[in-house]
Amino acid sequence: MRPVRIALLGATGSIGAAALALAREHPERFTFASLAARSNDAALVNAAREFGVRRLSLDDPESAGRARSRFEGEVLDGSGGLEALASDPDADVVVNALVGVAGLRPTLWALRAGKRVALANKESIVVAGELVTATASRHGGLLLPVDSEHSGLHQCLEGRTPADVHRVFLTASGGPFLRHDPERIEDATPEMVLRHPTWSMGPRITVDSATLVNKGFEVIEARWLFGLAPSQLDVLIHPQSIVHAVVEFRDGSQVAQLSVPDMRLPLLYALTYPERCPSALPRLDLAHVGSLHFEAPDPKRAPGLALARRALERGGTAPAVLNGADEEAVRLFLERKIRFGDVTRLVGEVLDAHTPVAATTLEAVEAADGWARARLHEAAASRLRA
Ligand code: NAD
Ligand code: MG
Repeated sequence: MRPVRIALLGATGSIGAAALALAREHPERFTFASLAARSNDAALVNAAREFGVRRLSLDDPESAGRARSRFEGEVLDGSGGLEALASDPDADVVVNALVGVAGLRPTLWALRAGKRVALANKESIVVAGELVTATASRHGGLLLPVDSEHSGLHQCLEGRTPADVHRVFLTASGGPFLRHDPERIEDATPEMVLRHPTWSMGPRITVDSATLVNKGFEVIEARWLFGLAPSQLDVLIHPQSIVHAVVEFRDGSQVAQLSVPDMRLPLLYALTYPERCPSALPRLDLAHVGSLHFEAPDPKRAPGLALARRALERGGTAPAVLNGADEEAVRLFLERKIRFGDVTRLVGEVLDAHTPVAATTLEAVEAADGWARARLHEAAASRLRA
């Protein structure tokens, strides 16, 4: 069997590293047709040399220029580079591990080319769920979630239809502030927020995990990936991150998916589905774990969940506004320009100021995203720190 050829978008990030690690462990199964990143040309060229990759893309033209001067293969840049990689006939699978709305167009390009997309970039589905799922079915592309909870749901739902399902639970670790008084984390620093208890991830999703905006995004993601109604989507706090998803069927029986928290496993599933590939990944030892803990989310500590529910209710471009505003608010927080508590407060203000329109075209989604970013900066102006 010839190895699967992967176009890896976001090769220098946390999910990108997990994909490289899988290929290192399974060289007979996975190779890379191409690698892309924003600006870290040194890391990208090193990865290309290690895996014998001939085609790279860097979003930043200066970084691409530096790569060209020391790399013997092809180096593309900008959005044209990502488009070429995402629709490359030499790639069997596109792993979309880009962060933010920057991942949307590449998801659409890959699906239009009829590819399997291993989708870590949940923002694609959050901002344009209807458009992305319609594009997949129109062109025969296959969307497989890399997000651990959705990979878990996909595994529990295998062979089932939405009519079999009563409701589903996505689990959430609760982030670093699960046991903190909400008033006392208003001024949490980036260092405190970036210390996630169970997962090691890029900065944006780590901040979103502390506000529970990430879990809110995942509710929206599940709505589109599995065709479920918002009322069927529940969240359970589970600090150990061992149970990733639970499905309750209409007869009352519940099925869960469990594993150690390691993103290589959902990635492996997305790359090899429907096959189960033997692996040397760390195994779960339930006797060693002993007990599993669950609790309902406390609304006071989970502002991001309420925001996502509001965006889902409003529909259309509201989720795109939620994401665009949050991307900017997280950036301002990481630059220490706004307080931690202001992140979800400002995002809520922007969401409430938006009048949604249908989100069935890329233009509508990108216009809403641009509006949300500008509006977030206006709302933040009065709260900027000296
Ligand atoms: P990260 O910040 O570690 O990496 C992001 C990658 O995208 C980097 O390689 C960066 O160079 C690249 N990138 C960003 N903007 C780009 C652009 N405009 N053009 C080209 N490359 C660009 O992020 P991450 O934690 O790996 O997360 C990636 C995606 O996976 C996010 O959507 C996140 O929500 C999702 N996700 C991550 C995890 C995790 O464990 N890290 C888990 C579930 C889902
Ligand atoms: Mg997740």
